[in-house]
Amino acid sequence: MPQNRRFLLQRRPDGDPVPDDFELATEETPALDDGQFLIRNRYASLDPAMRGWMDAEGNYMPPIPLGDPVRATTIGVVEDSRAEGFEKGQWVMGLNALEDYSLGASGGFTQPIDPDMVPEVTNYLSIFGAVGMTAYFGFLEVCEPREGDTVLVSGAAGAVGSLVGQLAKIHGCRAIGIAGGPDKCARLKEQYGFDAAIDYKQFSGDEDALAAAIGEAAPDGVDVIFENVGGVILDAGLMNLNLNARVGLCGLISEYNTEPRGARNLWQLIVKRASIRGLLVADYVDRFGEGAAKMGEWAAAGKLVVDEHVDVGLENAFDSFMRLFAGTNEGKMILKIA
Ligand code: NAP
Repeated sequence: MPQNRRFLLQRRPDGDPVPDDFELATEETPALDDGQFLIRNRYASLDPAMRGWMDAEGNYMPPIPLGDPVRATTIGVVEDSRAEGFEKGQWVMGLNALEDYSLGASGGFTQPIDPDMVPEVTNYLSIFGAVGMTAYFGFLEVCEPREGDTVLVSGAAGAVGSLVGQLAKIHGCRAIGIAGGPDKCARLKEQYGFDAAIDYKQFSGDEDALAAAIGEAAPDGVDVIFENVGGVILDAGLMNLNLNARVGLCGLISEYNTEPRGARNLWQLIVKRASIRGLLVADYVDRFGEGAAKMGEWAAAGKLVVDEHVDVGLENAFDSFMRLFAGTNEGKMILKIA
């Protein structure tokens, strides 16, 4: 059996993850039992939620046990099989780990995918994967946008945020994006069609100044917030809500490596009779086919631009993962394993 490089979690990160929290180990690939198949992982999705799985508490998934490889969604090719329905050479996708080879089992979460159905097989990790479905169901079902609404998106240049901004435009809304740095802000308008872009880094955590900038970009107020970041950015957005506004809480990435600052302006929900609702893409798994079909239609019609940031090499897993927190990923963060 082939050797298997595995990116192991050796210590729970305390704040920002550091290289010593992990180890790239080489182990023997175990022999297959009946009902199992061996996956040669080709690409892995690097997601902010993985940071929560590294903590002792976990999040919507249990913590990764110390010494285990870091859990990740991967797509790969069946290398060997003793499982009915899984043939050598077949493409599959599932919740596996950052490693060269993963074991799959019939009846498990790993499912066949058809690379001929999509422009690039990596699209299963972006527009047709959890990221695309988060944008689709999170925006359209949780935020209930109406034509003419003003929609504020944080983390707007990222994988989920860039799709939400484009969905807002497709649905006749005015889209305002918040992102870090002038280049990302230019991309928001030029590439994704946002009507206005705000560089939060210009305000160095000054909530009032950021709230004023949002107010300038949204003189008639904000009807929908799609929140990916939290902290000061969420609080500044809350100060601009319209009556009966909806806040879809998708992520709080500014707090994944720090003690939560918390939301301080929740009183605005009372004043504006607004609602705030958390969303979890896992709730929509049964409807992914429906969401993927619509996203595929818009992409084929040139209405949705999808960016993927592909780094190469399992040995670069740490640096690639940390891009999500440094903001140096330009699109859906993907690691090419082989
Ligand atoms: P992403 O936006 O492609 O990448 C993360 C981006 O977050 C970075 O590029 C960076 O952009 C920004 N960021 C990082 N640290 C920040 C900080 N301290 N303050 C402000 N911005 C910061 O990642 P993604 O996969 O699309 O995920 C976006 C959000 O959606 C995350 O919060 C994630 O947890 C959430 N999510 C939720 C679900 C769900 O089911 N609820 C599913 C998928 C994703 P800048 O350069 O602009 O700072």
